[in-house]
Amino acid sequence: MNQTYDFVIIGAGPAGLAAAMEAKKQKLPVLVLDEQPEAGGQIYRSVSSTKHLRPETYSLLGPDYQVGQTLEHSFQQSGVDYIPGASVWQVEPDLSVLYLRNGDVEQVGARRLLVATGAMERPVPIPGWTLPGVMGAAAADVLLKSSGTVPSGRVVLAGSGPLLWLTASRLAAADVKILAVLETTTLLNYLQALPHLPRALFASEYLLKGLRLKQQVRRAGIPVHSGIHELNATGTKRLETVCYTHQGQSRKLAAETLLLHEGVVSNTQLTRQLGCEHIWHELQRYWHPLLDEWGNTSVEGV
Ligand SMILES: Cc1cc2nc3c(=O)[nH]c(=O)nc-3n(C[C@H](O)[C@H](O)[C@H](O)COP(=O)(O)OP(=O)(O)OC[C@H]3O[C@@H](n4cnc5c(N)ncnc54)[C@H](O)[C@@H]3O)c2cc1C
Repeated sequence: MNQTYDFVIIGAGPAGLAAAMEAKKQKLPVLVLDEQPEAGGQIYRSVSSTKHLRPETYSLLGPDYQVGQTLEHSFQQSGVDYIPGASVWQVEPDLSVLYLRNGDVEQVGARRLLVATGAMERPVPIPGWTLPGVMGAAAADVLLKSSGTVPSGRVVLAGSGPLLWLTASRLAAADVKILAVLETTTLLNYLQALPHLPRALFASEYLLKGLRLKQQVRRAGIPVHSGIHELNATGTKRLETVCYTHQGQSRKLAAETLLLHEGVVSNTQLTRQLGCEHIWHELQRYWHPLLDEWGNTSVEGV
């Protein structure tokens, strides 16, 4: 083992970066590991290289993305030890961390570990979801942020949640040919969410942001069908047709790309591997590590 740090953080997204800079301020020897080549996590993926190498994409992604540059810059200035391109695949019971970098396995010791590995897109297993051409909407977001790439041909987005709308609005701004947004949210879902509305109004800027995204999609002339069900993808070698039911009628759209999205779920691979206790979040419907009021998991030091 090369070295032992008081504090190792896995994940250089906003959570990991904020924790690392605070630890450094408190004069704690800290190391950040992340599998991406640049700091920023999912929301600010590749923010620095996008700004310098792909200014058109940088401007298309807008202020909510560009603000990540300030965070990334402060982190770089903070002097925190940071190893990019490091995929952590194992943490031993003594908290030594094993990671893969440039094809080599390396190891570092930790007295305390912060798992800040964020969220991942929830898989959406509809019939035909393994056909080439069917992918996650957040995966399209990854391609846009990391390489400025957008899907060619006819695109359909289907599912629910803010990232669906964010991706639709960004792809529309990039002149992608979007045939429709198929919303799986039903009237019943909206009614079930009603009791949460008063609390949501305290964060009304998020509600307004959501409404603005929907408006941008509609203004781009993209048809939106709500409450769709029986969604499936068909094709022989790749996606050819998106089939769904809307208002009791079966419908079909010929398309080259179908982007699915039903929200994100906690990325629990490392906390599972560590043996942390997990609990089910009934409202959000995902497993996440059980934490005490200080953020400690059931495993000592994590
Ligand atoms: C694909 C995707 C795109 C998203 N885009 C947006 C967006 O544009 N706007 C928005 O508001 N929200 C977006 N989100 C939601 C997003 O999760 C949060 O907004 C925000 O990024 C969470 O910050 P975080 O620091 O908790 O985690 P993240 O930003 O997810 O950062 C976690 C970091 O951990 C690293 N990591 C994970 N596992 C390992 C491992 N085993 N070894 C090493 N490193 C590891 C990842 O590379 C990543 O950099 C997106 C989510 C996803 C999944």
